[in-house]
Amino acid sequence: MSLWVQKYGGTSVGSLDRIRRVADKVIEAKQAGHQVVVVVSAMSGETNRLVGLAESLVECPDPREYSVTVATGEMVSMALLAMCLIDKGYPARSYTGAQAQIFSENHCVKARIERIDPYPLKQALEEGIIPVVAGFQGVDSYGNITTLGRGGSDTTAVALAASLAADECQIYTDVDGVYTADPRVVPDARQLTHITFEEMLELASLGAKVLQKRSVELIGKYKVPLRVLSSFHDGQGTLITYEEVSMERPLVSGIAFNRSEAKLSIIGVPDQPGVAAKILGPIGEANIDVDMIVQNKINEDLTDLSFTVGREDYKKALEILSAVAKELGARDIKGDAKIAKISLVGVGMRSHSGVAPQMFQVLGAEGINIQLISTSEIKISVVVDEKYLELGVRALHAAFGLDKGADEDFDPKMRDFK
Ligand code: ASP
Ligand code: MG
Repeated sequence: MSLWVQKYGGTSVGSLDRIRRVADKVIEAKQAGHQVVVVVSAMSGETNRLVGLAESLVECPDPREYSVTVATGEMVSMALLAMCLIDKGYPARSYTGAQAQIFSENHCVKARIERIDPYPLKQALEEGIIPVVAGFQGVDSYGNITTLGRGGSDTTAVALAASLAADECQIYTDVDGVYTADPRVVPDARQLTHITFEEMLELASLGAKVLQKRSVELIGKYKVPLRVLSSFHDGQGTLITYEEVSMERPLVSGIAFNRSEAKLSIIGVPDQPGVAAKILGPIGEANIDVDMIVQNKINEDLTDLSFTVGREDYKKALEILSAVAKELGARDIKGDAKIAKISLVGVGMRSHSGVAPQMFQVLGAEGINIQLISTSEIKISVVVDEKYLELGVRALHAAFGLDKGADEDFDPKMRDFK
């Protein structure tokens, strides 16, 4: 008998009707002969409401009490779903993070899972009971309720699937699966039947919001077979794989974009060994994450350096840079918060050159100027003016044939799925 861990997100359990529908889906899997462990999120909007309550009450909520407050959202969903299953004649039992023995670090907010004791859930499964586990929460070694960071229910599901050695971890969400690009920006974006883990990791960190990044790292570590499915439409979703399923992978599997970064440049800095550290050191000390970095020597003794940071850190980074510029005797500094990053991702790039020049040519033909470029083995990212984001993404999507289903082993049955 195979074991499935099914995770239902906030929209999937967003109303009583939807909770009934989730119960039916779980029952369907049971009837097909699978064992099922269910993980639920809070009903949609509920976590935001709880965060709002805490933050309106006091300026700086105590982290322990904050976690207890926001963790209640998942507890409501788990108990409602369990009672609905019981009512439909299927024994079920709800489990908080602590009851499911999900142990996390000793800090309450954004805690990482450290270990899971699978015994209580295994025991329930043996007794024919469907465990319904609250996502997003754990317990620390002192018995405090902890939370795993926003979007953390994905992580709960993946960690449980790993610890129970589940045959599949199924993430039911409000998208049908992983797409070649965000369908809200590219109307003819296509759902992918499968994607490699490395591509998924790149897409998650580049701004595709399908799965929490931490959960993607975790599936890679434990090689959990994971499928992203729609809570609203039937279909096979997108399976994340660990080897290249087909030799004929398309060059580009997907396009990600991100409008939440800002660019800073320091111009005409006297060039000496250690200058990049002098510029970026204070930025790092202020806890600001730097993404792309480009340094360019302009003559014998001067250099320029540009980098990007999250837009929320833009002002602070600009202040720090201006102080550094004075200290180093730089000519000028510049900042631009109206930028966007567009990235092409595909394991096919590993064995083919030519993707980068084609990308630059497509953008050039649309009159889109590229401000920064960075590449890795399976990814090319460019920074452009924010106002060209949609145009750029659509042009690239068409130019690389992503609308056509270049995927060789694309299942024909899936073509009309959506
Ligand atoms: N309910 C939590 C959140 O909204 C966790 C989750 O849904 O994954 O962030
Ligand atoms: Mg979520």
